[in-house]
Amino acid sequence: MAPVEAEQHPRRSLALAAHNASGRLSPTRISRRDTGDDDVAIQILYCGICHSDLHTIKNEWKNANYPVVPGHEITGLITEVGKNVKKFNVGDNVGVGCMVNTCQSCESCEEGHENYCSKIIFTYNSHDRDGTVTYGGYSDMVVVNERFVIRFPDGMPLDKGAPLLCAGITVYNPMKYHGLNEPGKHIGVVGLGGLGHVAVKFAKAFGMRVTVISTSPEKREEAMEMLGADAFVISSDANQMKAVKGTMHGILNTASASMSMYSYLALLKPHGKMILLGLPEKPLQISAFSLVAGGKTLAGSCMGSIRDTQEMMDFAAKHGLTADIELIGTEEVNEAMERLGKGEVRYRFVIDVGNTLSAASLASSPVPAL
Ligand code: NAP
Ligand code: ZN
Repeated sequence: MAPVEAEQHPRRSLALAAHNASGRLSPTRISRRDTGDDDVAIQILYCGICHSDLHTIKNEWKNANYPVVPGHEITGLITEVGKNVKKFNVGDNVGVGCMVNTCQSCESCEEGHENYCSKIIFTYNSHDRDGTVTYGGYSDMVVVNERFVIRFPDGMPLDKGAPLLCAGITVYNPMKYHGLNEPGKHIGVVGLGGLGHVAVKFAKAFGMRVTVISTSPEKREEAMEMLGADAFVISSDANQMKAVKGTMHGILNTASASMSMYSYLALLKPHGKMILLGLPEKPLQISAFSLVAGGKTLAGSCMGSIRDTQEMMDFAAKHGLTADIELIGTEEVNEAMERLGKGEVRYRFVIDVGNTLSAASLASSPVPAL
């Protein structure tokens, strides 16, 4: 019989895991590998909650390997370094994002776009090189190859900086590669959630004009006054949408649910680009006419390389750019997931793992037998 998750590896760890498509998270014991020669061990202090965590624990993408321990916006302190480790020392503030390994030899890896390696190992719900399933940051510690660890610049807080490890790089990367980071250009941001709100902040830091396209009228004031957006339109209001028709060089589409693309693509100038970042469960509806007329481009983008993630993190630190977060304890995580599903978060939940995930919290909840 295969060893249970709590005994597969030598090091004992605590985690929050979902055990089925209800997505309900409960305290669980897991195990982690020993620190290898190229690895660092990290004491996890904070972990952001990405909508991808919610899609995965509810098995909306039909790929969940239960038990799922989500979390790919991980920050903490290095507690141990392997003998070949050069970049880090014990005590360093670091982060881990969406991936923990790649093949390191394919064209994508060699070109520095290892986020597109076909053998990518995601931080959770993926098969590691030894065949075991990877567990993410809703947990007290993790062991990661140093190449996939991000240095936290001085002054970048570990709580408000955590969401940059997924939400931040996911919006920064397409802005950089599609020329949507040039001062004076007009960018649209569809969906003002975790990704969307940091997209507004990066676009303003690049000196761009930013329009938020939202389904939530109550976010208008915050978008303009707190996040610095220049305009805010409600996607269901035909007059508001008409007022910005044909004005945008690019749109970052972060919506987590399926939509008809017609009215959104109409906002682009000729040769404008819409970059899909959201990963809804159901297909999008799109007419060829809305792209062909105007020579528009529809593209996708998936997180970013480690080099670009470090660049993004350093840029954010230089500009004092962090996420707006609601810090929660582990006992609030199921309620947080419900609120995330309803679009009620302002604008990223971050779990205070260091202070609230402990053997005591585990003892007060029934531990599922895996
Ligand atoms: P989030 O915080 O829940 O934000 C998503 C936003 O989408 C909501 O706040 C809402 O904004 C908008 N939205 C929801 N339903 C909509 C609908 N029916 N039509 C139009 N807009 C709708 O989620 P997130 O963490 O930012 O993630 C967003 C999506 O990106 C998820 O699907 C996630 O899996 C995906 N993702 C992709 C990558 C990647 O590498 N490509 C990385 C991370 C996440 P308004 O209230 O303003 O309308
Ligand atoms: Zn994410």
